[in-house]
Amino acid sequence: MANFKALLATKTEAGQSLTWQELGDGDLMEGDVTVAVSHTTINYKDGLALTGKAPVIRRWPMIPGIDFAGTVAGSAHAEFKPGDQVLLNGWGVGETHYGGYAGRARVKGDWLIKRPAALSAGEAMAIGTAGYTAMLAVLALERNGLTPSKGPVIVTGAAGGVGSVAIILLARLGYRVIASTGRTSEADYLTGLGAAEIIERAQLQGPARPLSKERWAGGIDAVGSHTLANVLSMTQYGGSIAACGLAQGMDLASSVAPFILRGITLAGIDSVMAPKPLRQEAWQRLAQDLDKDKLRALTTTKPLAEVTQLAPEILAGKIRGRVVLDVG
Ligand code: NDP
Repeated sequence: MANFKALLATKTEAGQSLTWQELGDGDLMEGDVTVAVSHTTINYKDGLALTGKAPVIRRWPMIPGIDFAGTVAGSAHAEFKPGDQVLLNGWGVGETHYGGYAGRARVKGDWLIKRPAALSAGEAMAIGTAGYTAMLAVLALERNGLTPSKGPVIVTGAAGGVGSVAIILLARLGYRVIASTGRTSEADYLTGLGAAEIIERAQLQGPARPLSKERWAGGIDAVGSHTLANVLSMTQYGGSIAACGLAQGMDLASSVAPFILRGITLAGIDSVMAPKPLRQEAWQRLAQDLDKDKLRALTTTKPLAEVTQLAPEILAGKIRGRVVLDVG
């Protein structure tokens, strides 16, 4: 039995509050693998959970944190033994099951992935749900037949977590990447990751026409709303777009024109309940395709204690790239 620090989110009639508490293994929820957590991270969804801006947490009290990496401390699951290096993304962890903002976590072994040897725990959390989602999007585009020879690709929300990792993955695979950002001050950062062209997100933020000039063969959209509608209306014949986010909004005021007149495909990306074989494929590809120097360039490391200050910042679109939280 070990004691550890955990961030506990509680809800009363007065509202939601966050407190650091000392817990023991006996306080953890059911599961067949206990993990000593070494690193976690903050994603947009964690920002929503911590601030209570959206009902991400659906069981109270809750330890937030949708990702973690660490070492197996105890296991009754056939696939894992003490000492194994593991990582976790999603499956409702940090929403309905105690999550990664703690020194220890107990989960279903079926939810865990063996961390690829090529990635450290810190690198795995620099990738986190945001980067793993970017990889799921790349896999979906590839399955839809997208190749670099078909034309350029657009990445929206480019300076954020999903966007930054998407740029380094697509550039490494040989695509000409157009990065859409509201932070043109980050142009050097985005070019450093591999973007060939930067466009102002204002170009894509207003209501979309059914069809506009064809500008890209594919893309990864982390923004939704009018931005996704514009991205679809500007996709060239036979192209493919992966939709994974809602930073501008949940709505989608588009038309069927891009689908029935240009034969384009819209691929939906969900990281939370993605089946294990797909996750394993995504993590193997991340270990193989991700440029580690570029990953370092988009990563900031902070102590876990700072996570509550970071939550409003990520929702305000002020965090560049990815933040690793050292659980130490
Ligand atoms: P970040 O906050 O790191 O990035 C979001 C980026 O979107 C911002 O950095 C900003 O980029 C842009 N943005 C923010 N607000 C607006 C706005 N009002 N209009 C247009 N662009 C805006 O978040 P993540 O990268 O972690 O997540 C991105 C999105 O993907 C979120 O909506 C998240 O919920 C979703 N997501 C979905 C997953 C899934 O399973 N489907 C998994 C992971 C994330 P810039 O400054 O460059 O314009």
